[in-house]
Amino acid sequence: MPTVKRTIRLDKSLSRDHYIADALIIRCIDCRFKRCLTDLESELKLKFVDTIIVAGGAKNISAPENHSDKDFIFSQIEKSIKLHHTKRIFIESHDECGAYGGAKKEKVLSDLLRAKEMVQKFKPVAEKDIPVDALFVDFNSINFMDKD
Ligand SMILES: [Zn+2]
Repeated sequence: MPTVKRTIRLDKSLSRDHYIADALIIRCIDCRFKRCLTDLESELKLKFVDTIIVAGGAKNISAPENHSDKDFIFSQIEKSIKLHHTKRIFIESHDECGAYGGAKKEKVLSDLLRAKEMVQKFKPVAEKDIPVDALFVDFNSINFMDKD
């Protein structure tokens, strides 16, 4: 029988209410960029945000190391939409991403934009016409990227 070894009390109880996700963000594990997305949530007034955190962020969609990585991300996107009726999706890549092992910024941006297209074409996203944004985050800014 499992036993509680330690308990940390929350300052305030969590809400049990169901919610509609203002957004789903797919981002890299790199915690140096965590605050950027907090700033994004604040700037765009996103209250309920589902998050998929994987090393390399968008890379897992357009240039995955294993095919199953991409399938996993798509299954999570589908669940966010099904469970939380997600209103919009952000896909993130960032400067100096270790998952890229020193690849040039052009490669990172190319993969990011391809990931955006792939998510836009993903049936659960396309059917509901959910907007998808590609974000490139550097050490000073969050940049909404598009072709040309
Ligand atoms: Zn990274």
